[in-house]
Amino acid sequence: MIWKHIDTCRFLYNLFLEEKIRVYQSENKSLTMFDLSNMIPELKKQHEWMSETNSQSLQAVSRNVETAFKNFFRKKANFPKFKSKKNPVQSFQIPQHYEVNLTENKVKLPKLGIVKTVISRKFVGTLKTSTVSATSTGKYYISVLVDDGLKEPELVPFDSSNTVGIDVGLTSFLVTSDGIKEDNPRYLKNSLARLKHLQQLVSRKVKGSNNRKKSVRKVAILHEQISNQRSDFLHKHSFKLVSENQAIAVETLNISGMLKNHKLARSISDVGWSELFRQLEYKCNMYGKTLLKIGQFEPSSKLCSICGYINHDLTLEDREWTCPECGIHHDRDINAAINIKKMALQAQNLLPNSG
Ligand SMILES: [Zn+2]
Repeated sequence: MIWKHIDTCRFLYNLFLEEKIRVYQSENKSLTMFDLSNMIPELKKQHEWMSETNSQSLQAVSRNVETAFKNFFRKKANFPKFKSKKNPVQSFQIPQHYEVNLTENKVKLPKLGIVKTVISRKFVGTLKTSTVSATSTGKYYISVLVDDGLKEPELVPFDSSNTVGIDVGLTSFLVTSDGIKEDNPRYLKNSLARLKHLQQLVSRKVKGSNNRKKSVRKVAILHEQISNQRSDFLHKHSFKLVSENQAIAVETLNISGMLKNHKLARSISDVGWSELFRQLEYKCNMYGKTLLKIGQFEPSSKLCSICGYINHDLTLEDREWTCPECGIHHDRDINAAINIKKMALQAQNLLPNSG
């Protein structure tokens, strides 16, 4: 029944997306969330099996399609993509009319009935949308959005002494203006090497054979493990940065542009910078901290953070350099992180605009 919901919602999402694109191209008109929702009764007549799915879960799909386009137009996301059956995590939403029993460890879902669960965290508040997801390794999750009714914490004031600048890069995962360098974890690299090996094993097995299925499953399990390892690593560092500082300055990177550079693509996507920035943003909101975002600026590495001299001769290979103007010896990435912090504070009028 969970898979029936997932498959139907994916089918509907792709159909809505296709329809929205078609109408836009042929009539130069933009279908709204309501236009899409209004198509559902007719679709149910055409495809009787759609009625087996909770109708509010179907309604939620039209909202998701609209959100995907809004994020695209606000330049927060790429153009909406069709959902693939092959995605490692598949999901559908239940906007309301479900119950969570925290004492008996179960949830009651429309069309699905009572489902036994392991509850990871107790909560108090009004239930909002929930999302049911299934992984390719056969695990099922429900995540519940709860409105706790509390106001967002007041913003903690910040100044130069409690603001940190961070620079992200390929040599170190992140470098702070305080001179701390965090490297990519070795276990991720080890897991990736093992993944490559397992994927080769799959390609050697006969299609449709049981042995191949076993190998595919091993790949899925390792994929999930890598994703959990990466998530732990990112949560640990984003939490540390947010708790130790009142403001965090970052450079908004053109990550999708960088991913087009094929050589860098693999390692960058493994590093997960965009996920780090996402976590920093919501954790700052949660704790009343400020995330200062500055546009990408060319000389962040080339600018001497002490005297403002610009080293035009600096190449990607130069990890350290000495400023010919003031004689300071720089670590390339720490200097960049200091510049990011300075630029962000100048934009807030918290530092004079000197060089
Ligand atoms: Zn200098």
